[in-house]
Amino acid sequence: MDNNLAPPCGMYCGTCRAYLLLKKDLFKKKGYKTGCKGCRIQNKNCAHLKRDCQALKKNEFEFCFECQKFPCQRLERLDNRYKTKYNVSFISNLKRNKEIGTNNWLEEQVELYTCPDCKGEICVHDAECYDCGKNINQNKSK
Ligand code: SF4
Ligand code: SF4
Ligand SMILES: [Zn+2]
Repeated sequence: MDNNLAPPCGMYCGTCRAYLLLKKDLFKKKGYKTGCKGCRIQNKNCAHLKRDCQALKKNEFEFCFECQKFPCQRLERLDNRYKTKYNVSFISNLKRNKEIGTNNWLEEQVELYTCPDCKGEICVHDAECYDCGKNINQNKSK
């Protein structure tokens, strides 16, 4: 699978609002102006870690779990923010990625964020299927 959607920080870009807005051309409908093509293609300073971490800026690691500081304070702060807001743990995601390999992890993420009703794509930030509009947070039951 394409690891563009597997950033260093443990997010899965395929469920990101910015990614889905662009992919599905939903800017007008959802009232947003900017999108994102995914971490590795975009190679920008995503709101997550890259803008703050010199090692990631210099592409020293593909994933944070390769770093001797893992999980550093920055990553822990981000992890806590996402756990509180979206029930997602980037640190757990990274550990799982390391354990089963990036391809398998991506396959799990695709399955997790596939809408059970329409097989469309779920946005973790809005807890909503961007294809049929169903309200759903796949991580709440965990
Ligand atoms: S904004 Fe960040 S998390 Fe979202 S798709 Fe882009 S790189 Fe991925
Ligand atoms: S774990 Fe390492 S690579 Fe990742 S943000 Fe922290 S210092 Fe940077
Ligand atoms: Zn759906």
